Amino acid sequence: MEKLSFKKSLFWGFLIFIFFMVLFLFSEKRGSVYLIAKILYSIFLGSFTFFIFFTGKISKFRSAFFIISALSFTIVYKFKLWGITGNFFIAPQKNVPEVPLCHIALASNFFITFSDQLKSVFLYGWDKWGFYTIGIVYIFSTLSIGQGFCSWGCFYGGLDEGMSRILKNPIFKVKSIPGKLRDFPLGFWIFLILASLVLLEPVFCLWLCPLKMTTSILNEDNGIIYKMQIIIFILIGIIFLFLLPFFLKKRTFCSFICPFGAFISIAGQLNPYRVEIIKEKCVKCDKCIEVCPMYAIDSCEYKITNYCTKCFLCIDKCGENAIKLTINKNSNNSYYVFFILSAIIMAGALSSFFIPEALIIIFNW
Ligand code: SF4
Ligand code: SF4
Repeated sequence: MEKLSFKKSLFWGFLIFIFFMVLFLFSEKRGSVYLIAKILYSIFLGSFTFFIFFTGKISKFRSAFFIISALSFTIVYKFKLWGITGNFFIAPQKNVPEVPLCHIALASNFFITFSDQLKSVFLYGWDKWGFYTIGIVYIFSTLSIGQGFCSWGCFYGGLDEGMSRILKNPIFKVKSIPGKLRDFPLGFWIFLILASLVLLEPVFCLWLCPLKMTTSILNEDNGIIYKMQIIIFILIGIIFLFLLPFFLKKRTFCSFICPFGAFISIAGQLNPYRVEIIKEKCVKCDKCIEVCPMYAIDSCEYKITNYCTKCFLCIDKCGENAIKLTINKNSNNSYYVFFILSAIIMAGALSSFFIPEALIIIFNW
């Protein structure tokens, strides 16, 4: 992206600040402390927008926001759980604090959620239509930024992104992987939705999801099955959320395990934005392949695949200016501006449920 001038960057930064201020002034009902936290959050979003446009370093600032969002989500949830149960990890089922409707659960239990929601539509009021009401956020996000949700809005993804950013260089260099292995999550996702349908239970959530460590582990029964589930999800968490991202500098949970990642690689095609390599400009230096955290670049054909989450790391890294954000094969600076503003509005609105609250918790502490 070409950097914007100081005046233009300031204009967009100010517009984002005003947008969120108006949103919060009309929606905030919890008193002055929350309002102050949300004003600070609006300033933060405005500054973040300004710096992205003024420096042209999209990925650097995006990454910082993304990691802060995931950490804030974890802090808020953990403190709520601790306040209710006196424990940061274990919760008896009835006392679990409210969780935003989890997009990973939606993707992995698609048919079950769908039938549950049909029931709730016929039996309850609209405020109980979780899938449809929160689903609007995901539909808006898919239409406006596609797979970009996984690098801007997901309140879990910042965890493996954070781990993958700790080292300057990877300890083990695995630049690319065979295409068939990269397609593993698609097959895994299909298996999960079918297994959940047959067993009538959320298989991924019960058996595999390491992100429970950011929320709560239900302690319904203390038998052997429960213990096996805990061991499996802790192992997956340690390997795919912490060790592999740290050593490889890749987002291995998001690339290989997350069912939502697989789902959005298909649904995201509805969105017109693509990140593309301009073949005539590319000198095949492989820098983009090395930095892509999602293994989303085909190293034989120098082509960006559907697994691209529009993190823009490759665009920032390519010294030949050979990677562009395109619509219908054309590129234009205004596409970047529009994409980034859409991403900030979507991610900023979603994170407004926890970043300001995390600020208050940290301040009180
Ligand atoms: S970093 Fe740029 S020049 Fe190097 S391989 Fe990637 S697209 Fe080509
Ligand atoms: S191809 Fe580029 S924009 Fe897409 S995920 Fe990889 S580094 Fe990010």
